[in-house]
Amino acid sequence: MKNVVLLGSTGSIGTSTIKVAEDLPDQIRLIGLAAGGNADLLLEQTRKHRPAVISINDPAKARDLQNTLGASCEVFCGNEGLLKLATLPAADIVLIAIVGTAGLQPALAAIRAGKDIAVASKEILVMAGEIVMNEARKHGVRVLAVDSEHSAIFQCLDGKPTNSVRKLLLTASGGPFRSQTDWPKEKFSEITVERALKHPSWVMGRKITIDSATLFNKGLEMIEARWLFAIEMARVGVVVHPQSIVHSMVEFVDGSLLAQLSTPDMCLPIQYALTYPDRAASDRVQTNFPRLGTLTFEEPDLERFPAIELARQAGEIGGTLPAVLNAANEVAVAAFLNRKINFPQITETVRRTMAAHALVAQPTLDQILAADIWARRMAEK
Ligand code: MG
Repeated sequence: MKNVVLLGSTGSIGTSTIKVAEDLPDQIRLIGLAAGGNADLLLEQTRKHRPAVISINDPAKARDLQNTLGASCEVFCGNEGLLKLATLPAADIVLIAIVGTAGLQPALAAIRAGKDIAVASKEILVMAGEIVMNEARKHGVRVLAVDSEHSAIFQCLDGKPTNSVRKLLLTASGGPFRSQTDWPKEKFSEITVERALKHPSWVMGRKITIDSATLFNKGLEMIEARWLFAIEMARVGVVVHPQSIVHSMVEFVDGSLLAQLSTPDMCLPIQYALTYPDRAASDRVQTNFPRLGTLTFEEPDLERFPAIELARQAGEIGGTLPAVLNAANEVAVAAFLNRKINFPQITETVRRTMAAHALVAQPTLDQILAADIWARRMAEK
C-alpha cells in the first residue's frame, strides 16, 4: 500500500490520479489532497477518499470546508497548506500537479522530508531541474515522471546509465496545426483561441493545450528530460508522431531502439509512477493494433514552430534561462487566451524576453524565482 499525497487534485492530472486510486484501492491510499479553487470537487473527493488532511488556496474556502467536514479531516490553506501536505509524515510519495510555479517549494520540501515525488508540473524541472535532482540525490529519493513522454523514457531506460544511450527521442503529436498544407506559416496569425484549444489526441488543461499547439509543451519536456535523465540537450531529440501511440523512445549506443506504446491515457503514466517499481494489473488501457492501423513519424517543422529551438537553446545554456522561457511563455499564453496577442506573438514574446535576459549561470533557488518574476514583467511589456 502506498500513501499518496496529491497536490492539484481537481485539475486534469489530479482527477486522473483519483481514477487510478479508485482502480487500485488495495495499492493506493490518498492521505492528502490539495486543490486550487474548486472547493466543491475537493469536498466530493474528500468524502469519498477520506484523506486525513486537505488544503485549498483560499482561507475562507478552507474555513467553510473545515466547518462542513468537522473533526474527521484537517483543512489547511495557501502555500502553507501545500508545504504541510508535502511533508506529511505518513506520505510515501507526493504527486505534484499544480499549475505554475507554486509546485516548486512543495516539491523541494517533500524531497527534504525524504518523500519520493511524482512530477506533473513541468515548471519544477524546467525552472529548477538541477537543484531538484541534486536534492533528490542527496536525500536518496526518487523523482518520477508523470508525463507520458518521460514515463515512456523511464520505462525504456529501465535503469541503464546515460553512457549506454545515443539519444532520447520525445514524441510530439504536432498539435492541431501540424499540417503544413492546412496551416502554412502565413495563416498562423489567424489562429483563434477556440481553434487552438482543440487538441487532436489529448484532453488537457487550457495552458498545456496551447503549449501543445505552439510546441512549447515539447520544448519544456526537452528541458525536463535533460535534467530527469541527466543527459545533455544535444542528445534529446523530438519526432512528430500524430497518433500519440508511441509515447517516446530511447535509442541506445548499439543502434537498438526501445519504445513504450499504448493508446493515449494519462492514467497509465500516473499509475506507473505511483506503483513503481511494480506493475499493477488494470484493465483501463487497451491497445488494439489492427484498429490503430498506421503509425507515422515526421520531422518537427522548426520554422513554423520555433519553440523547439528556443527550448533547446534554454536547455543548453541553462542557468536562469529555462525559468525565463517558462515564465515568458506563461504570460504570453495567458495574453493569447485573453485575445490580447495573436498566435505567432506567443513565441515572439518568449524569444524577445530570452534575448533581453541577463543570465545567471549557476543560480540559487531565489535567483531562479527572481528571474521568473523579471521575465513575467518583461513579457507583459
Ligand atoms: Mg507530455
